[in-house]
Amino acid sequence: MADRVPRIVVVGSANVDMTVRVARLPARGETVLGDALHTAPGGKGANQAVAARRAGGDVTFVGCVGDDALGDTALAALRTDGVDVSHVTRASGAATGVALITVDTSGENTIAVAPGANALLAPHHVERAADVIAAADVLLLQLETPLDAVEAALGIAAHRGTRVVLDPAPAPARPLDRRLLGTVAALTPNRAEAARLVGAERADDETLHDVAATLLAAGVGAVIVTLGADGALVATARAMSRLPAFPVRAVDATGAGDVFSGALAVALAEGREILDAARFAGAAAALSVTRLGAQAAPHRETILALADR
Ligand code: ADP
Repeated sequence: MADRVPRIVVVGSANVDMTVRVARLPARGETVLGDALHTAPGGKGANQAVAARRAGGDVTFVGCVGDDALGDTALAALRTDGVDVSHVTRASGAATGVALITVDTSGENTIAVAPGANALLAPHHVERAADVIAAADVLLLQLETPLDAVEAALGIAAHRGTRVVLDPAPAPARPLDRRLLGTVAALTPNRAEAARLVGAERADDETLHDVAATLLAAGVGAVIVTLGADGALVATARAMSRLPAFPVRAVDATGAGDVFSGALAVALAEGREILDAARFAGAAAALSVTRLGAQAAPHRETILALADR
């Protein structure tokens, strides 16, 4: 295992989540009174950057926020965790991405996202970080920013020999290009995203095995389908294994997938084998569901205490 701190670059989105807890979700055209507004940093890219940092990585985040007060909030959260934000662009006149969330007492939610500055993340922003991507052990990507920026990052990683972990979330509208998939070392869809990646109509266990096989044939190094409380399916050219979830008292599963991908990137960067890395990621994600909020990632010592048990 590497004896230096593993280096991770995350290219992706940063939002501010605005949440109101309500007794029940409003119906169409209805106004429902709720609790006080809860404002917290979010966005898949920023969530994964924080998770990777807490899991023990040296993390640089590449993204785009507005030059508004919410942009300060998003950046301050990353800085507080020690994430390098020197490659974040502040787009003048643009609004920082916002997720408007209502959550009812049973934990059901509705979410509307205004991407704002995230939609402005462009290939030239990513290219400015090319040397940092080249020097990283792992490049971690999601699909919450424009696809051409994601493709630019994949191109740099392929050219400069950096391993890529791609969390294909939110699910792409169309199956991803095979050319892109061939450059990915580990892909971390949840059940629904896995099906969407190849245009499969169902997402039952049998279909998932076929989907994983199709993705492996397209050149993906390992496919890890996260299955919530049912754990994960880990598929490589050599084997397909089912990893059970760590039993925990679940409070809030928001962002569990982000914690999984962030921790997985660190584990792979430090040289763990895929199953061992997935176990570390599963421990991190399980711990995160015991806490409220999208950036509820646990710290390395806590993850190791659970994973090594
Ligand atoms: P997403 O948040 O992307 O939908 P999942 O719901 O599949 O992703 O969760 C990601 C990972 O988080 C799972 O593979 C599992 O390791 C962990 N996880 C999620 N829910 C639970 C739970 N209730 N108990 C234990 N681990 C969980």
